[in-house]
Amino acid sequence: MHAIPEGISLEQARELLFEIPIFSETTPVPISAACGKILARDYYAPYGLPTFSKSPLDGYAFRSCDSVGASYKHPVVLEIIEEIRAGDYPQKELGPFQAAKILTGAPIPVGADAVVRYEDTAFTPDKVEIFRTYLSDTNIIHEGEDMEKGSLAASSGTCITPPTAGLLASFGFSHVEVYQKPSIALISTGNELVAPGNPLGPGKIYNSNLYTIGSYIEAAGAELSYTGLAEDRDEAIASQILGAMEGSQMIVTTGGVSVGDYDRVRTALESLGAEILFWRIALKPGAAILAALLQGRLILGLSGNPGSAATALHLLGVPYIRKLCGRKDILPVPVQALLKEDFNKSSPNRRFLHGKIVYQGGHTYFSRTGHQGNNVISSFVGCDALAEIPAGSPKIPAGTMLNTYFI
Ligand code: AMP
Ligand code: MG
Repeated sequence: MHAIPEGISLEQARELLFEIPIFSETTPVPISAACGKILARDYYAPYGLPTFSKSPLDGYAFRSCDSVGASYKHPVVLEIIEEIRAGDYPQKELGPFQAAKILTGAPIPVGADAVVRYEDTAFTPDKVEIFRTYLSDTNIIHEGEDMEKGSLAASSGTCITPPTAGLLASFGFSHVEVYQKPSIALISTGNELVAPGNPLGPGKIYNSNLYTIGSYIEAAGAELSYTGLAEDRDEAIASQILGAMEGSQMIVTTGGVSVGDYDRVRTALESLGAEILFWRIALKPGAAILAALLQGRLILGLSGNPGSAATALHLLGVPYIRKLCGRKDILPVPVQALLKEDFNKSSPNRRFLHGKIVYQGGHTYFSRTGHQGNNVISSFVGCDALAEIPAGSPKIPAGTMLNTYFI
């Protein structure tokens, strides 16, 4: 048996997870339901946008060369040869000293290279007067000005936003190909756990991780396909894992991954023949973490401590979930922020604080949302970022620049 990597870095742990082959299903969805989903192919502009040159306002289309020398004293008089409304197509080509009445969004007729606003003219049904010289291209929206034919309109692996949906609709796509949400199972382990709604016996606690971790999993773009509760016994945990296998691409567990007699997740996984990828990473909080592979599925064992589980999920689990979702941008992007309040503990291990980003007086700050203990969840409320303190750091005074990551 090969040695199991222990105490590896977060980056090494991510690499091991990202090496796991994944199979993501795709499906067409109506563009009306596409927002928030992940595109499964690239979309190129089949034609320029707009598809024809058009007028941005109500007025008259004409040949700019005809306006040379026009003034209020000596207006140029043009003959109106047709009216073009939005949705019409011009029937005539403009000749010298001819104009077409044109409405917003209507195509520019052949021959015209400028549009003058109604307000800047004097007109009768068949004549229009203009009072100054106009340059070529005045008030013309050009074909392809918004997007050129053949350019990448939306790329595979990106999240469909409102403008992406509108852009794809502009090209006439009624459906787009997206990745299906990955199905993830969440198993809570611990003899002490009781489901909310039931009475709490002495020594028992409510299973809060199911809701915190479960909701974070869903917020990362996955579907919670199975939830289970197991006592700290190999058979109970193994049976929950077997129950979760069908219909899930990944299994997350909480609790039971430390070194105590009742930390049974690893032995339960070994009893099922799972390959342990690594155990424990150099991280605080969230060091107690186990990753295993069973029938091609990742099983990510998080600590039962709510703060540790949430931190490790964000740093390691969420990037993997994003990969399962088909996303290309899977790693959190570092944002530099100034520590808002002193942090009066040294950090022999690489540490992540939880807090929020605050913009104040032109600066970006990271402010802790409360007590940083492994076991606390209350101070994750309002937390939108994790701040990184490198291993071997002394106490950190306010004003120190840190790398932070939005969660
Ligand atoms: P463990 O990782 O099993 O050693 O658990 C560490 C701590 O987290 C213990 O105090 C547990 O009672 C607590 N804990 C374990 N599972 C959960 C859970 N699902 N919800 C809330 N707290 C938990
Ligand atoms: Mg336990």
